[in-house]
Amino acid sequence: MEKKQFQAESTRLLEMMIHSIYTQKEIFLRELISNASDAIDKIYYKSLTDPQLVFDKDNYFIKITIDKDARELTITDTGIGMTAEELETNLGVIAKSGSLAFKKEIEAQDGYNIIGQFGVGFYSAFMVADVVTVISKALGAEQGYKWQSSGADGYTIEPYDKETVGTTIILKIKENTEEERYDEFLEEYRLRAIIKKYSDFIRYPIKMDVTTHKPKEGSDKEFEEVREEQVINSMVPIWRKNKSELTDEDYEQFYASKHYGFDKPLSHIHVSADGAVVYQAILYIPESIPFDYYTKEYEKGLELYANGVLIMNKCADLLPDYFSFVKGMVDSESLSLNISREMLQHDRQLKLIAKNIASKIKGQLQSMQKNEREKYEKFYQAFGRQLKYGVYSDFGTHKETLQDLLMFYSSKEKKLVTLAEYVERMPEDQKYIYYATGESNERIEKLPQTELVADKGYEILYFTEDIDEFAIKMMRTYKEKEFRSVSSADLGIEADDSDKSADAENAENQELFAYMKSLLEGKVTSVKASKRLKSHPVCLSSEGDVTIEMEKVLNAMPN
Ligand code: ADP
Ligand code: MG
Repeated sequence: MEKKQFQAESTRLLEMMIHSIYTQKEIFLRELISNASDAIDKIYYKSLTDPQLVFDKDNYFIKITIDKDARELTITDTGIGMTAEELETNLGVIAKSGSLAFKKEIEAQDGYNIIGQFGVGFYSAFMVADVVTVISKALGAEQGYKWQSSGADGYTIEPYDKETVGTTIILKIKENTEEERYDEFLEEYRLRAIIKKYSDFIRYPIKMDVTTHKPKEGSDKEFEEVREEQVINSMVPIWRKNKSELTDEDYEQFYASKHYGFDKPLSHIHVSADGAVVYQAILYIPESIPFDYYTKEYEKGLELYANGVLIMNKCADLLPDYFSFVKGMVDSESLSLNISREMLQHDRQLKLIAKNIASKIKGQLQSMQKNEREKYEKFYQAFGRQLKYGVYSDFGTHKETLQDLLMFYSSKEKKLVTLAEYVERMPEDQKYIYYATGESNERIEKLPQTELVADKGYEILYFTEDIDEFAIKMMRTYKEKEFRSVSSADLGIEADDSDKSADAENAENQELFAYMKSLLEGKVTSVKASKRLKSHPVCLSSEGDVTIEMEKVLNAMPN
């Protein structure tokens, strides 16, 4: 039987594909610039093995020009160019990637940066353009060619005289419609912003003629408009630079330029991982809480780059919730991207990176806690609550990671201490880690329940946030020491028995206590004599797991 090929209405397919793959029109520029960068890279790689070919970096660039009247946006590169056949196969066949083929060819060498792989990016131009014209002259070719298409009705290829090797792509930008704006893609400031956003770290200069205002000759008051060519992208990403070349100011500037926050970062981490997964990252611990941090609106995540090209603004999978305050970016060569390059396959690589990053952040916090306590306290004031939520959530599975980062105010030290410091100081006869809950340190200090414990010379941790007690309940123990509220019925302290025992007192005052209980009906379960009070006549205590303070919190929760 004769085997038939599937037929496809290619123009419809093109339409569907473009509109279903990309969520934002502006990425067409990212795709075309990436292609231009790939084309220059190809010359570079060829020059590595071809002694005839000298690669002088200064001669290679990408240029963006705008012609508002003609509604034309032009992207020119000095890359490898395309022959007529290549125009046919690479641009005429959807999902055909010349770049992927090229990569396979040079597989033997490592260190390549070529971005293309899916063979669809080019067509994103049709999201903003009615007509796309590609004029190209391949390296080593005599003749240039012009490829042209309006998307819907196929394409034409014809010889075209072009002097220099490389490719020029002319987009005839669509007219505004009622729903869609296209004019912005002819605006200098808008294009500059898009280039900065997605292509800032393309390794070749992206040039554009821009209008600036300069002081007039011989005058420092009068300004004149000047057109000049500027390089828009910064080219060398700070994260690819050597740590030793960079100062704190460099990192702070990057933080500000990326709008990670309006504050100065408290601390930064620069990672350059070369192990099972290769990536670079710059991470920041902010100084102050973003205004929406403790709300549902807050979106955690890191910027994600693949080979220096921005893929995602906020990749949430890179950060555990308990480190959701961390800002910054990750760049990796070893990610499997989906076709729109807007999302990742949820792959092993990403998980590895996330795990690696979490441990780096923890390491940084621990070293800050150890060596820069004041700074750490500042951090902890802002984000300590999030760490406690972390301990509390997921059934305490993050206990190991987070327990050493916690700090509480100490009755003895009169400042925040770590659990390790507390346990270190514990006298041998002390069984439990004691804590007291209340609205403020001052209030807790006055609690009658603290007297006996304090009298024994034991340290008490003050819990002033709702989450505190819930978190340590989840932890249950720290270094095998249980936590115990000072208002719990069993404090594990031998009350001194010089006087009558509490049991004897209870027996003697049976009637009085019964009367008191009847007056407090529904408010207390029993009234008892206690040996734990020194200077106060009475205190409240609780039995079982839920303490009085927790009860308050639980009662206040909406149900
Ligand atoms: P991808 O970049 O994923 O391969 P594209 O649809 O963006 O897919 O591009 C298809 C192919 O067209 C590229 O692989 C490349 O071979 C070729 N190409 C596109 N733009 C250029 C350019 N400016 N210079 C040289 N070749 C190009
Ligand atoms: Mg591409």
